[in-house]
Amino acid sequence: MTKLTPETIQWDQLGFNYIDTGKRFRAYYRDGAWQEGKIEDDRYIKISEGATALHYGQQCFEGLKAYRTKEGKIQLFRPEQNAQRMVDSAERLLMPPYPVEDFVAAVHQVVAANADWMPPYGSGASLYIRPLLIGSGDNIGVGPAPEYLFTIMAMPVGPYFKGGLKPAKFIISDFDRAAPRGTGRQKVGGNYASSLLAGKKAKEAGYADAIYLDPETHTKIEEIGSSNFFVISDNNEFITPKSPSILPGITKRSLLYLAEHELGMKAIEGDIYVKDLDQFVEAGSTGTAAVITPITSITAGDTVYTFYPEDQVGPVTQELYRLLTGIQYGDLQGPEGWVQEVKL
Ligand SMILES: *Cc1c(COP(=O)(O)O)cnc(C)c1O
Repeated sequence: MTKLTPETIQWDQLGFNYIDTGKRFRAYYRDGAWQEGKIEDDRYIKISEGATALHYGQQCFEGLKAYRTKEGKIQLFRPEQNAQRMVDSAERLLMPPYPVEDFVAAVHQVVAANADWMPPYGSGASLYIRPLLIGSGDNIGVGPAPEYLFTIMAMPVGPYFKGGLKPAKFIISDFDRAAPRGTGRQKVGGNYASSLLAGKKAKEAGYADAIYLDPETHTKIEEIGSSNFFVISDNNEFITPKSPSILPGITKRSLLYLAEHELGMKAIEGDIYVKDLDQFVEAGSTGTAAVITPITSITAGDTVYTFYPEDQVGPVTQELYRLLTGIQYGDLQGPEGWVQEVKL
């Protein structure tokens, strides 16, 4: 395969795949302190075979995007929220947090260094930014590492689904994603490792992905493997699950705000029981990668809860998508502080 370059890349053909853009930010934690980070060229990381990230999953990550506006500017969407969430993940796994301000500055630096790879406005593509924090030092006994690596890679990605919204059907999994007091709230690789089998089974059965229930009672919906869940009631309510074991998504939080302040809905974080699913008129999954995936139906054992015919999208889902992507791409004015420009 020929190597992709910004000159040969076809922006409208992009999927969601790793691309080596040549520039990433790296910072090292040694002797009890974060050293100053810089842009590096080598995609490979050289660490000891005794690193805790490899043995005990001492690692966490983030995901956010940079968007090209109609005027040609590059902007980020709420990066300090990702920074803070990574601090929370790091603390849960006994890793030294990378400071919020330094995180945001590093994101700006890595986007500027990869500006050639910024997809044009209107292509539906964006620059995906993946921060990663790993225990890179040795500890073969179970315990935290003495050294850490913080890195941020960036790569152009297509709209998760071409043409924006792509409705899909989902199935409730027999597996749990996280334990009630485990690491479900943190963006850690271990949650993903344990979701791979459930996701594979769901896809083999013809569904987009698996939905997980609350691990304590298995009666309420928690979230999907890599995205949050919401429903719309015919009572003008936007409802998303509240639980200590789900990932606090920034897309979800933003949609809660937009539903309340732009659409005049009642925005609620509460319980969504499987047995009550037939009371709702729309459902969807939310996350940075796909923004919103409208859910046409949910299969729970022998019962299928249908919200919309396949290939159709409900009006509230459609409007929330239009608002959020409009803000992200700079076509609409968002609330104060939601976007920030990357200066080249
Ligand atoms: C990242 C993630 C989400 C979505 O979070 P956003 O901040 O909206 O991208 C939801 N669930 C899980 C399990 C995640 O890892």
